[in-house]
Order: sequence, then C-alpha cells, then structure tokens
Amino acid sequence: MVRAVEQPGSGDLENKASTPALGLAPELRRRLKPLDSKPAGTLLVHEIYRSIQGESTFAGLPCVFVRLTACQMRCGYCDTVHAFTQGRVWALEDVVAEVERLGDPLVELTGGEPLLQPEAYPLMTRLLDLGKTVLLETGGGIDTRAVDPRVRIILDVKTPGSGESEGNVWSNLDRIRPTDEVKFVLLDRGDFDWALEVIEKHALTGRCGVLVSAVHGALHPRTLAEWILESRLPLRLQLQLHKLLWGADARGV
Ligand code: SF4
Repeated sequence: MVRAVEQPGSGDLENKASTPALGLAPELRRRLKPLDSKPAGTLLVHEIYRSIQGESTFAGLPCVFVRLTACQMRCGYCDTVHAFTQGRVWALEDVVAEVERLGDPLVELTGGEPLLQPEAYPLMTRLLDLGKTVLLETGGGIDTRAVDPRVRIILDVKTPGSGESEGNVWSNLDRIRPTDEVKFVLLDRGDFDWALEVIEKHALTGRCGVLVSAVHGALHPRTLAEWILESRLPLRLQLQLHKLLWGADARGV
C-alpha cells in the first residue's frame, strides 16, 4: 500500500499551491510522469465539456467540466483511468476562454486529481472572479488549504474498498465548511460501517453535506438506500445521474 504524506503547515499558501506533488511519497510521484513535461503556466487537460452534473447537491444542473490529467491514486473502481495519462497542454487563459465560451454558470474542476497541477489554483480563482460557481472534485489525497475559500469542495474520503484509504489527508476534514461536501464511494457493507465511523468521529453530518454512492456493478443503490434509512443519518444518496442518462462507459458526458 502506498501512502500520501501531509504537507508541512508553514502557512505559505503560495508555496504549497506551487508544489502540491512534493508532499507525496516518491512511489506516488512516479504516477505523475505525464505532468513532468508540462510547461509552467499551463494545464494538462484531459477534456473540457458541457453535461448535466451527475453528483453532489448540484446534481441535475447544466455544468461545464474541466477534467485534468493524472492522479496519484489507483482506486479499484476508478471510471476515469483514461485521465491518468491522456491529455493536451492548454494555456491557463485558453482554459478560461473555453469555459466562458461553453457558457454555463456552474463549473467543475475534476480529474484525475485536479489539485496536482499548481495552475489549477489560479484557474479556480479566475473562474470565481468571472462570477462562476466553482465545484472542485478532489480525491482527498492532497492538502486543500490553498484552495480559494469561495470554491465548493467535494472531498472524497477513500474507503478501504477503494484500496487507497491510506492516501487520505485527514486534516482536510478539519477544514471542511458548510458549503463543502464530503463523499464516500462504497464497495460493500464493510465500507459503509467504516464511513459511519468517520462521519461520527468528525461530526460530519452537522458540518457539511455528506454524500454516499455505491460502486457501480458492485453494490446495488437500493441496498445502500436501505442502509441509509436504517442509520437514521442525513446522508444523501448519489445515483451518478450522468451514468443513468448516458451509460456507465460513456466519456465526455
Ligand atoms: S482518486 Fe478519482 S481519478 Fe484518482 S484513481 Fe481514484 S477514482 Fe480514479
């Protein structure tokens, strides 16, 4: 099992934002080779597209997605493995222009792991300054403290069933705000019970929205719905609307 290392708490946000991958163990950094040749000031982008937001409390709304390349994790259920390596270099200004051209007021930065690229931080700030509502979907393995506080963070907490639970940066949960959401993707009952422990330990249901979704093809959403009702906690069931609309294997939707 590989492990993420938390970044030191110096309070130097500029420095943290410019070197997010340096807080990772060497074996994880090897997975980020696609980013090695990316010039400073640019982003390695897998795809930019319009779709219906499939998850979070924004589910159902039109949204522009900016999917960045590369991830330090390898979750067993990952449905965006094509974003580990494939992408094209874009100038930050060109990404902003493309998001503006597509036009929706809601934008999500996703991946891969979007926080690995230093330029993702000023990109989010630029989009916020343009009046966009910016969602950040992050795998939870990178320190979020340098993210613009206006961003609505959707923070994954990786369960044992993902195979990447040792990569969680737990201090991210200390920073979670009412406008953020925490998400658990669950493989089985063991994952659900584990998630309940994390939710209780960090008092999450009183602090932010808590999303739970079932690994496609491994856990039936109806079973998860029954567990939610039994728990009597205000957990929000995620049905991954985009997969219901366009199929589990569709890309760019
Ligand atoms: S963090 Fe997300 S993109 Fe990375 S491996 Fe896990 S599911 Fe895939």
